[in-house]
Amino acid sequence: MIREERIPLATLTEDQLESLYAHIDSLTNTPVLRTCLVPGCLRQFDAMATMAGSPMRPEWSAAGWSMLGAGSIFPTGGHICPDHKDLVTSHWPRRLELPSGRWSVACPCGWSPVPQRWHRLVAAQWEQHLLTETGALPAAPPVTDPEHRLPLAEHTEESLAELYDRLWDAEADVPELRGLARACSVGYSLTVPALLGAKTALENLRTRITVDSRDWAADKLDAFLWAVLVGRNCENSDSDHVHNDIDCAGDQPLGTIADQHSIPTDQTMQASQHRWWIANAIKAVQQIEDNGIVTEIQ
Ligand SMILES: [Zn+2]
Ligand SMILES: [Zn+2]
Ligand SMILES: [Zn+2]
Repeated sequence: MIREERIPLATLTEDQLESLYAHIDSLTNTPVLRTCLVPGCLRQFDAMATMAGSPMRPEWSAAGWSMLGAGSIFPTGGHICPDHKDLVTSHWPRRLELPSGRWSVACPCGWSPVPQRWHRLVAAQWEQHLLTETGALPAAPPVTDPEHRLPLAEHTEESLAELYDRLWDAEADVPELRGLARACSVGYSLTVPALLGAKTALENLRTRITVDSRDWAADKLDAFLWAVLVGRNCENSDSDHVHNDIDCAGDQPLGTIADQHSIPTDQTMQASQHRWWIANAIKAVQQIEDNGIVTEIQ
């Protein structure tokens, strides 16, 4: 690594000190760009700006982006741009470990690849599946297609073992899927009531604070509580929303109140993150309620 040459303090000028600060700033505030996981898509958003406030460029905004969690077919997770949200949602890739120790993917559309011994391969297969679905690639022939079957004379012990593996995987699939459905249902019935309770509690706290006659901007801790539980900045995430003076708070109030109380930037960012998590959790629970899934299960 090449290091900046150090200027001795005795000869350091005001200008050099200023440019040293500016240089450090430019390096520490560099955007952290995340690219959409759909192959060929070039859209990006700035992951740092999402937490801190506004991105350096409007096209780097995180509005409308979604995430594929870690532990999916992409071991470190992935990001999906607003253009591809519907596409990826209808082909949400769930990773499957088969009894033979091989890996496959369960796609909601019914597609699933020939099982692989190395789990990272299934991500590439799923990407190819997406490209086929969007028409970027011609449709692949099914593997059980008679045209692709190996004649007996060409079979080896290995290729026959492969066939039996495939058969056993398919046979084991049925009870395995049943077990999975049961596990999902149990997990769901545990987490949903907990989330609903947390949402009610957070919403009650929010109401309690907003109707209180106290000046919540006067004290530092009050200001922090308000920022986290109620929120200071505009939270409209519609892609066509532009901050205005009429029906939104814009993106400045949190910074302004932090300045009033001399709250350091990292703590302000933390408050902004806490607020984001709370608002996001409430939104997620709202979706569960809106879909009516809750009442079906309970
Ligand atoms: Zn995309
Ligand atoms: Zn699919
Ligand atoms: Zn706004």
